[in-house]
Amino acid sequence: MSQRSDVCIVGAGPAGAAAAVQLCRAGRTVVVLKPVPSGRARPGEHLAPDAHTALTALGVSADRLAGVAEPCPGRMIRWSSPEVEEASYLHAEGHAMNVDRVHFDRLLVEHAEAAGAQLILGGRLIAAAHDGGGWRLTVREDGSTGPGPRPRPGPMQLRCAVVLDATGRRAAFARSRGARTRPRDRLVAVVASTTAFRSADRRLVVEAAPDGWWYAIPQADERLVVGWVTEPTTLRAGSGGPGAAYAAGLSRTELVRELVASTAGLGSEPPQVMVAGSGLCEPISGPGWLAIGDAAAHTDPLWGRGVPHAIELGMRAAEAAALPPAHRPAGLAAYESVVRQRWLDSERARALWYRQAGQRFGTPFWHHAVAGDT
Ligand SMILES: Cc1cc2nc3c(=O)[nH]c(=O)nc-3n(C[C@H](O)[C@H](O)[C@H](O)COP(=O)(O)OP(=O)(O)OC[C@H]3O[C@@H](n4cnc5c(N)ncnc54)[C@H](O)[C@@H]3O)c2cc1C
Repeated sequence: MSQRSDVCIVGAGPAGAAAAVQLCRAGRTVVVLKPVPSGRARPGEHLAPDAHTALTALGVSADRLAGVAEPCPGRMIRWSSPEVEEASYLHAEGHAMNVDRVHFDRLLVEHAEAAGAQLILGGRLIAAAHDGGGWRLTVREDGSTGPGPRPRPGPMQLRCAVVLDATGRRAAFARSRGARTRPRDRLVAVVASTTAFRSADRRLVVEAAPDGWWYAIPQADERLVVGWVTEPTTLRAGSGGPGAAYAAGLSRTELVRELVASTAGLGSEPPQVMVAGSGLCEPISGPGWLAIGDAAAHTDPLWGRGVPHAIELGMRAAEAAALPPAHRPAGLAAYESVVRQRWLDSERARALWYRQAGQRFGTPFWHHAVAGDT
């Protein structure tokens, strides 16, 4: 079976969904490939207040976020000194939000479908060839988890002019075209969640510790997502694996340890280990393709703006991709320059923050993190 569309988006996270909406608004036909989820569900995250601007531009109204995001009124940070700094999110754009990423991502995908994008659930790209007529993509449907039609038995052929790589940090399509992600560091995040977090205080907590830094994000369903950003060697140092290293690291915190102690505790499931460093894809685009969201550039979670940036820059990329072929190179160049500038800004901000904590602890983790040598 063969199908034709203007654009194919590989990956259906916030960047892919946002780009799909914007392309549909520009009158382009869009196919989005969303693979069957594998591994564990993505942990909850914290959206900075500027997420409201990105979501409003995308057409996602605040009432649609009910049950998916809970308001986060502020944050408590213990960073450059043992003193706790408290900040309120009294912001013109509204407060921050703590989101369940599984529900949040589903909401955005449904929004893209409502805008006119065709979603291929379980769609996995198995081959791509580019010629004068655009892309010839071979897609296999691995089985849908949704209520839609049953997957087609054989591979399908897709013809399109442009492919957007929205596969997150993997940058799977860009890498298949020869691009490489230049990692700045090899930081990892070890993330677990507790149940029965019933505190009325719904603020984000960030705490620097000798061997990394921690965050705790209250979720609407009484879970508390607790993440530790550290370097791989710290996890390998003991004999008990990441779970034992996580428990030992947690015991060296104060704010986060107290929060965890106020809950039913960490479950028996081992914590998730995720790649968490920052990196830039080189090149960001090539003939007939461009990378968007984390596939183009990803930053340390400390920056805390991955999702709003994925939405905003996904929409910008879509505007460039929707241009007539003669104008597209200029649009792509402008898009790439914004991606690079944002990434450099986030790296500068991060370096400043890391230097502050580094002066406080002077431990190998902070020495490596400041030098970008984790
Ligand atoms: C530990 C950690 C904590 C974070 N905390 C925050 C936070 O609190 N706030 C915040 O704003 N940001 C946070 N971020 C960053 C944020 O998660 C990302 O910036 C954001 O998810 C990027 O969106 P995206 O759509 O580009 O990629 P993703 O959200 O990664 O989506 C990529 C999609 O592509 C799919 N995919 C992958 N490979 C393929 C393939 N081969 N074919 C088809 N589909 C594919 C994946 O299944 C996924 O659905 C955090 C990141 C980490 C690592």
